[in-house]
Amino acid sequence: MPDMNQNSPIILWFRDDLRLSDHPALSAAAKLGVPIIPLFILDDLSSDARRRGGAARWWLQASLESLGREVQALGGRVILRRGRAPSVLEDFAKATKAQGVFFTRLYEPSRVEEEQDVAAMCRMQGITCRRYPGALLFEPEDIATQKGEPFRVFTPFSKACLSRGGIKAPLSVPDNIIWPDSWPETDPLSSWGLYRGSPDWAKDFPTYWTPGSAGASQKAERFVVGPVSDYSDKRDIPSLDFTSSLSPHLSFGEISPRQVWHRVHHQEGAEGRGVGSQAFLRQILWREFCRHLLFHWPQMTAKPFDPKFDAFPWREDDGDLLAWQKGQTGYPLVDAGMRQLWHSGWMHNRVRMVVASFLTKHLMISWRAGAEWFWDTLVDADLANNTAGWQWVAGCGCDAAPYFRVFNPILQSRKFDPEGFYIRRWVPELAPLSNRQVHAPWEDGVLPPDYPAPIVDHAAARARALDAYNGIRQRSN
Ligand code: FAD
Repeated sequence: MPDMNQNSPIILWFRDDLRLSDHPALSAAAKLGVPIIPLFILDDLSSDARRRGGAARWWLQASLESLGREVQALGGRVILRRGRAPSVLEDFAKATKAQGVFFTRLYEPSRVEEEQDVAAMCRMQGITCRRYPGALLFEPEDIATQKGEPFRVFTPFSKACLSRGGIKAPLSVPDNIIWPDSWPETDPLSSWGLYRGSPDWAKDFPTYWTPGSAGASQKAERFVVGPVSDYSDKRDIPSLDFTSSLSPHLSFGEISPRQVWHRVHHQEGAEGRGVGSQAFLRQILWREFCRHLLFHWPQMTAKPFDPKFDAFPWREDDGDLLAWQKGQTGYPLVDAGMRQLWHSGWMHNRVRMVVASFLTKHLMISWRAGAEWFWDTLVDADLANNTAGWQWVAGCGCDAAPYFRVFNPILQSRKFDPEGFYIRRWVPELAPLSNRQVHAPWEDGVLPPDYPAPIVDHAAARARALDAYNGIRQRSN
C-alpha cells in the first residue's frame, strides 16, 4: 500500500480461515505495522449455499470461542458482527476509519460473489482491498490442461499439481501484530444462537471433536506419528481410526492444507515417499480438485455435471428418505453410517459412499436430498467436497463412478467390516448377532424385534435403478 497511514487500521476479515498460523492475509497485515482489527461476520441473510447447517453451526460457535481465546492471548479481540459482508464491512470501515480490508480467498460461488461485492465497496470507499491465498495449495487458475482448460478428470489434475510442486513452507503466527488503542463494539457470541442445545442432539460431539486450531494440530499430530503409515491399507475400514479426521478442521480453515502437507512430508522424511503418506496426500489433492470443479462449474451445486441426468426419474418418497436419515433402512452398514453421522457429526468415507449409493440407487432419491441432509448434519459440511462427493457416487458428476456400479451394501459390509465391529457400535440392536448374521440378519431369520426388515430388496432395487438409468441413456443417444 503506497500511502500508509500508521494510525488507520486494517480490517482482517476472518472467513473459513479460523487460524492465526499460516495465514497470509494476517502476516501481510502485520508486516505493514499498522493496527489490525480482526472481524468475523455471520451472514444468515444470503443464499442458502452460504448458510451453515446445524452441525457446522455447533462447530462454528466452538471454533470462534477458540479463535477468540487465541487472539486474546496475544492482546487482541475478535469482533463479531452479523449481516451481509459487504454492507457490514462498509459500515465497520467507516466507523473504525480503516484504510483497508484483508482476507483469505474462497472458491464457493456465493463466496466469490461476496468477494467481488466487497472489492467494489472498497473501491467506492477509496480503501484498499487485498485478497490472499491460503485455503488451497494451488489456485484454480494455475492448474489447467495443455489447452488451458480446467481439468475434469482427477488423475491428470493431480499430476499437474504435483508437477508444479514448490509448496512453500507454512508461515508462523506473526509476532509483531499491533492492535488498536480502542476496540469497536462486538456482538456477544451467545446472542447469535448458533447452537441451541435443546434438544441436545450434539451432546456427544465434544467427545469426538475439539474445534479450533489447537484441536486441529492435535489431530494432525496423532495422525502423522501413527496412522499415516498404514493409511493406504486401513483407510477403508470404518471400525478403525486410520484416517486423519481433519475434515472439519480443514473446512473451517483451522489448519491450512499447506500445514498438513508439510507436516506429513516432515514426518515421512524430506521426500514424503511412504505409501501411506502418498495415499493421504492424494486425498488432499481430491479436496483441491473438488474446489477446482466448483470454481469452474459453479452451477454444479444445483445441477448434475452430466446433463443427461437432468431427465433422471428421481423418486420423491418421504418415508424412504426418513428411514435413510434415521438409520432405519434394515441394511446394517447403511444404518450404522447414518447413526454415526447423527451422533458424531461425521461419517467414515467408505460408508459415505455406501449410504450415498443406497439413497441414489436403491431408493432412487436424488443426490440433492442426500447432500442437503449431509449439509445439515456433518460437522465437516463443505460445499465443494459434499457436492462433488454426492455427484460422484450418484454417477452424474465429473470423473464419476459409473451409474451402473451399484454398491451392494451387504457385500460392502462383509468386506470392510467383516467382524461387524462398526455395525455393533452404531446399531446396538444387532450386537448379539454372530459375525455371519450381523450383515444381513433377515437372511438367517434372526431379525431382532426392534430392528427393521430391509425397506427394499437389493436385487429388485438394483434392477429398478438400472432400468431408469438405461432409460435416460437411450433418450440421450
Ligand atoms: P482423510 O482420509 O484423512 O483425508 C484427508 C483430507 O482429504 C480430508 O480431511 C478431506 O479434506 C480430504 N478428502 C478426503 N477424501 C476426500 C474426497 N473424497 N473428496 C474431497 N476431499 C477429500 N468431505 C468433506 O470435507 N465435507 C463434506 O461435506 C463431504 N461430503 C461427502 C459426501 C459424500 C457423498 C462423499 C462420498 C464424500 C464426502 N466427503 C466430504 C469426502 C470424504 O468423505 C471426507 O473428506 C472424509 O471422510 C473426511 O475424513 P478424514 O478427514 O478422516 O479424511
